[in-house]
Amino acid sequence: MSVSTRVDLALLGFRGDAPVTRSPGAGPSDDGHLVIDGLSAAIPRNPLSPFVFDGDRVLLDGVDTGLDVSAVDRPRFYDLQTADGVAYEKLAKLHGRDVLATTVVQTCIRYGEDQRCRFCSIEESLRSGATVAVKKPHELAEVAEAAVRLDGVRQMVMTTGTSAGSDRGARHLARCVRAVRAAVPDLPIQVQCEPPADLGTITELHEAGARSIGIHVESLDDDVRRRWMPGKATVALSEYRAAWAEAVRVFGRNQVSTYLIVGLGEDPDEMVAGARELIDAGVYPFVVPFRPHPGTLAVDVDGARAPDAAVLEKVSRGVAEHLRLSGMSGADQNAGCAACGACSILPNVGG
Ligand code: SF4
Repeated sequence: MSVSTRVDLALLGFRGDAPVTRSPGAGPSDDGHLVIDGLSAAIPRNPLSPFVFDGDRVLLDGVDTGLDVSAVDRPRFYDLQTADGVAYEKLAKLHGRDVLATTVVQTCIRYGEDQRCRFCSIEESLRSGATVAVKKPHELAEVAEAAVRLDGVRQMVMTTGTSAGSDRGARHLARCVRAVRAAVPDLPIQVQCEPPADLGTITELHEAGARSIGIHVESLDDDVRRRWMPGKATVALSEYRAAWAEAVRVFGRNQVSTYLIVGLGEDPDEMVAGARELIDAGVYPFVVPFRPHPGTLAVDVDGARAPDAAVLEKVSRGVAEHLRLSGMSGADQNAGCAACGACSILPNVGG
């Protein structure tokens, strides 16, 4: 597959149905999950896209693109529910072919209109009834056990909205990790949270059984951070750097990652330079395109658009080159978004 077609798909999305989809929520969302050329691909659903997925092929203006593509099958664990009657699908979702993903707390102290990240819709899936506010550790353990047994899930991602406590939500993550590891000891888990004020919490997450960690800054440009993420921007970049360094010490090189979003207005060359510094510090910069979807302030208020294809490809190639030179690969992460790769084109360009 040509990289440019994969880039266009990541930006323009596709029309049509896929058995495994994700509704609006935390992070990049509202997508359908496909396998393209053997790699997981989370592609935005876009009724205006020129690409159509007909169940077997991707067509562009009615012509087969020739992509080797298949849909991810609906997992069997979606048909189960807890003893209390909560559908497993509301507790955790299948991402890509083999990732179980959950948002352990679906609310965020930063969700006020003047504070929230303008690309985020974490509480919209809660309002629509697609999920529950707080996932209980024993429920996640039950879902994870079933997803591994019935559907061959190989890794798990746990993210969280930010809580008011100084741990910023990490302690509940640790409780959830402990419960899942007790039920499925071999399932690698990545946790995702803001830098906890007490850096000792990072060790707690590791001791609970997490094997990778994402501490997501989204942009290294403070002006961009204040504009797009006013709440999160109150946490200084110096706090992120301290948390990444401690996480690399505890989890190891290339078991720590951060999202960098292309399309928020950051200078592409500065973005690549910043990503290289992260790589040198042992942190994997998971480069993803800004994905506009309704329900976010970016789309509903600002009318923001997906980034330019050439910019996404240039940044991704620049970052992938330094990853290769440094011997780092997303596939070498034990668990998490970098290990999955479906929301990025880094795996398509050697990262
Ligand atoms: S990259 Fe992360 S958010 Fe995207 S599908 Fe994979 S696990 Fe889910």
